[in-house]
Amino acid sequence: MSDMNIKEQAEKVIAKTYARFPIVIKRGSGCTLWDEDGKSYTDFVAGIAVCNLGHAHPGIAKALCDQAKILFHVSNLYYTQPQVELAAWLVEHSFADRVFFCNSGAEANEAAFKIARKYFKDRNEPDRFRIIAMEKSFHGRTMATLSATGQAKIKKGFDPTLQGFDFVPFNDIKALRKKISNKVCAVLMEPVQGEGGVRCPDPKYMKAVRRLCDETGTLLIFDEIQTGIGRTGKLFAYEHFGIEPDVMTLAKALANGLPAGAMLAKEQVGEAFGPGSHASTFGGTPVVTAASLETLRTIEKENIVEYCSSTGVYFKKRLYELKNRYDFIEDVRGFGLLLGMKVGIEGNSVVNECINRGFLINCIQGKILRFIPPLIISIEEIDSLVDCLDKIFAGHL
Ligand SMILES: *Cc1c(COP(=O)(O)O)cnc(C)c1O
Repeated sequence: MSDMNIKEQAEKVIAKTYARFPIVIKRGSGCTLWDEDGKSYTDFVAGIAVCNLGHAHPGIAKALCDQAKILFHVSNLYYTQPQVELAAWLVEHSFADRVFFCNSGAEANEAAFKIARKYFKDRNEPDRFRIIAMEKSFHGRTMATLSATGQAKIKKGFDPTLQGFDFVPFNDIKALRKKISNKVCAVLMEPVQGEGGVRCPDPKYMKAVRRLCDETGTLLIFDEIQTGIGRTGKLFAYEHFGIEPDVMTLAKALANGLPAGAMLAKEQVGEAFGPGSHASTFGGTPVVTAASLETLRTIEKENIVEYCSSTGVYFKKRLYELKNRYDFIEDVRGFGLLLGMKVGIEGNSVVNECINRGFLINCIQGKILRFIPPLIISIEEIDSLVDCLDKIFAGHL
């Protein structure tokens, strides 16, 4: 395998679901990645908002190895300590009372849809199953989660999608008020839309959504798979808005790169999941939950959320400076270290030029550059990316 060309081999044997950039990443440390030729890249993608504490974090690696030497896995037919400790941490630090563990974001959302439907079945309101989701949302690629996703390109080719999902424009309370009824079991949204373009709602809208759900007895589900675990400068993004959901889903950064997902609920809703109603073989498995617990404890001990909040403010200010200099930059937005910059030029050409200069950034929706580095990114690393973008943009004038 060693002298075989990895890229050529991949083209032959890997499903063609990803348009990959032509680099083979071999190793990482902190916010730096190295490719197979030894070239280094400062990483502003972090596995898409996953590796919040950076790559190959020694503390998490140790927790993972220590647990692997004791016990990899047992069935959820039995109790294990790391799983219970992780759930207790999440309950202690959030609005929620109960946690269901799974392995990915899509699975966490599947659990959320199931519990919302079951909640109303248990309350003898069997027709109350519709979920109102948002236009331009992203909730995953499984059949139910793509059905809940408000982007036609994600659904294309997979008709018929699952019934029971309706869509309204994000940040439009009138549209939601019109659609909500006693047939609706839940309103589903990302507090900040990630894949849809780093779209931030008006705080007044968020409060009004909560009020509307309370008035109609509708559950409010927040998909915090991208925004959760400190990304926006709060542990959970809902904290920015002074409201709480009834159900929340987590994944991405939960175990700093190991596959982990969780669905959190208030007690009243959590009761809808009893023995046999839902399950996952690997959900909450000891090795992953031990790594997740170490991730969360490190974030807490090292005040990473506060650090993210202040570096995010600095980073955004630097991006605004670029916007003031280049007319084709239409917008800068986001919270914490979930930042977007809408450019009137081909986004992927900027991404490719960044790769050439040793920086990984991400482009969504064609023209929105997204910056989602590890939360431990330094001011110097931010400054060098901004300098790099400045040089690239100067060439586009
Ligand atoms: C990434 C993401 C998902 C899907 O998570 P997977 O682990 O890829 O299934 C769902 N919702 C949001 C908001 C995401 O960012």
